[in-house]
Amino acid sequence: MSSLQDVAVIMRTYKIGEADKIIVLFTQNHGKIRAVAKGSRKTTSKLGARLEPLNLANVMLWQGRNLATITGVDVIDNFTDIRESLEKIMMATTMMEIIDKLTLDDQENDALFQLLIKALMTLDKNFSPAILGAFCFRVLMVEGLTPQTDACCACGTAQELTAFNAAMGGALCRNCQSGQLISKQALDILGLIFNGRLGKALYLCSHAPELTHEIESLGINIIEYHLGQKLKSHLNLKTWG
Ligand SMILES: [Zn+2]
Repeated sequence: MSSLQDVAVIMRTYKIGEADKIIVLFTQNHGKIRAVAKGSRKTTSKLGARLEPLNLANVMLWQGRNLATITGVDVIDNFTDIRESLEKIMMATTMMEIIDKLTLDDQENDALFQLLIKALMTLDKNFSPAILGAFCFRVLMVEGLTPQTDACCACGTAQELTAFNAAMGGALCRNCQSGQLISKQALDILGLIFNGRLGKALYLCSHAPELTHEIESLGINIIEYHLGQKLKSHLNLKTWG
């Protein structure tokens, strides 16, 4: 048994017993951890107030034989601007759900952690409507699942790429097309995202709602394909949107 300290995003919580909660944390150095916050549902609990989903916090844990126990929390950022917008909350929740479903417990993934933190900070202080779509494609890159966007996955031609098929691994030309149709502009945006030019990609989408929607729905569809299930938060986003 030992104690540990790490920076973590509080991804979700659920009730256990009379007054406790299980907290699902995505930490920088220890990956996803489930830990008990004892007494955190009591109204007087300082711990409970600091363990709100979406908080970025410095967390102290006692690692027992089974579940870890949270012994201290210092909030680093509670992303106040995200909490003031339903659209931003839904996007942040979808991002956290993607990370939660893609990761196993106790497996460090610093690249994914940095990606989530940067996306939440952008959502909070530097909002771009295309941030969720771009996040999906960056996640695919980090996980080694980058789709092919510069040539047809079936025949290899770079001419007239008109469709996208997650099961085939990316873009398809007019002759081979299956899956969903994709615009030339969307393919160009994906190219920018995969070549480290995220700022330009977000800028080009900032006044193009249809393109933003196309990138987001494509990104979500590919993530859902790899997960083998639908994202619950994104269904809510569509209902509210
Ligand atoms: Zn082809």
